[in-house]
Amino acid sequence: MVEPNWAYIGLGSNLDNPVDQLKRARKAVTALEGVREQGFSSLYRSPPMGPKNQPDYINAVMAVVTELPPLVLLESLHRIEQAHGRVRGGERWGPRVLDLDILLYGRYCMRSAQLTLPHPGLTERPFVLYPLAEIAPLSLLIPGRGTLRELLRRCPRQGIEQLRLDHG
Ligand code: AMP
Repeated sequence: MVEPNWAYIGLGSNLDNPVDQLKRARKAVTALEGVREQGFSSLYRSPPMGPKNQPDYINAVMAVVTELPPLVLLESLHRIEQAHGRVRGGERWGPRVLDLDILLYGRYCMRSAQLTLPHPGLTERPFVLYPLAEIAPLSLLIPGRGTLRELLRRCPRQGIEQLRLDHG
């Protein structure tokens, strides 16, 4: 365990009842020892990145405070993905029952085979930036990239749709 750090986790699914997948994933992340939920965005429907012959995605972002070091948190997220039936090694950006990414971990910057922080896709993905802006201050500094406000200004919504449903 390390000193508590804020982290933001991106959730996505486009198979097997994605709304339900995200609800269950939220509960599983919150149940991890050393992780406390601080906020959870609305759900968003977003067109697929990469191959277009797959269903739309449902995405959300979760804020946590965690005492797990980044790589231990990542391993825990991978275990949750596996418990949801995620099979790794499929097509890049292909359909998936559950994808959990560490978007930010405090102000950590790192690049290794297993983990890149901040998440490299963070800056140009509307389905990450818009939900993030619901639960994080616009002044949030994304190390090396500027503030959340600046990133949003440069990122059109590109067809993402905020879902108005109770996802508690
Ligand atoms: P994905 O297919 O999106 O689940 O990610 C494939 C690989 O990206 C995983 O095996 C991770 O080890 C790696 N990865 C690198 N940086 C990150 C990050 N910030 N969050 C989640 N996975 C990451």
